[in-house]
Amino acid sequence: MDLGIRGKRALVCAASKGLGRGCAEALAAEGVDLIINARGAEALLKTADEIAQRFGVSVEAVAADITTEAGRAEVLEVAGQIDILVNNAGGPPPGHWTEWTRDDFIKALDANLLTAVALIQATVPGMIERKWGRVVNITSAAVRSPISVLGLSNTARTGLTGFIAGMSRDVAKHGVAVNNLLPGLHATDRADSLDGAAAKAQDISLDEARARRQANIPAGSYGSAADFGAACAFLCSQQARFIIGQNLLIDGGALNVTI
Ligand code: NAP
Repeated sequence: MDLGIRGKRALVCAASKGLGRGCAEALAAEGVDLIINARGAEALLKTADEIAQRFGVSVEAVAADITTEAGRAEVLEVAGQIDILVNNAGGPPPGHWTEWTRDDFIKALDANLLTAVALIQATVPGMIERKWGRVVNITSAAVRSPISVLGLSNTARTGLTGFIAGMSRDVAKHGVAVNNLLPGLHATDRADSLDGAAAKAQDISLDEARARRQANIPAGSYGSAADFGAACAFLCSQQARFIIGQNLLIDGGALNVTI
């Protein structure tokens, strides 16, 4: 299916690897020009180069911390006028609810709620003027089903979900579709590090920790960045214009609910 977005311009945040990269690649495969971002310049430039070579699109790379005001200003300066925004940033560390300080919460809220809000405020007015836009926020399956060790993530991402529920309905009449993608377990560095934390907490091997987590996924394996990217590209397509303010779970069936 042609998604009808060839020649559009997308900013994909936190995209040198993992799910952000999966989204960037899926958009590039549709002929979308990219601005991608991550903190580490080396991996980012390599990714930008590989995507540009493979898909023949323009890829600009901005090495900056997207969770800071200065980092966002750098990224937005290079991005200029964009049609598609994919909000993403690293997730908060695991822990226990008795230990998290006010500073821990502020950091999580900055990274996984207020950064997305700031980027939306900076870019969606332009999309409204041009009468077309797409925003995809990478949140987490934890929005539907809490993961207690990731309480900082549960808190920040449900906040973003509430914000999007309202604003997405305000902007829909201008041709701007805003939605959230909720990853379950995907094979990325983030999953590796959470597998490691689970192994340590339960005093089991890394392989055992992975096998236990995988056993809860009806699809039988962790998802891939490409699986995730394909869903992102669809939400950015012309065909997705009537999908507004939704929370699409990409988890291989792990959440055992009827609707
Ligand atoms: P990942 O493989 O660790 O990749 C994270 C990417 O984000 C890297 O490119 C990293 O590059 C970049 N990044 C991290 N912090 C950044 C910052 N402050 N500013 C700019 N770039 C930043 O992680 P992932 O698995 O793709 O996860 C992406 C998001 O989905 C995270 O919020 C994660 O919590 C969430 N999630 C993931 C899963 C899963 O199973 N993978 C499940 C649920 C939710 P640098 O380090 O160089 O900045």
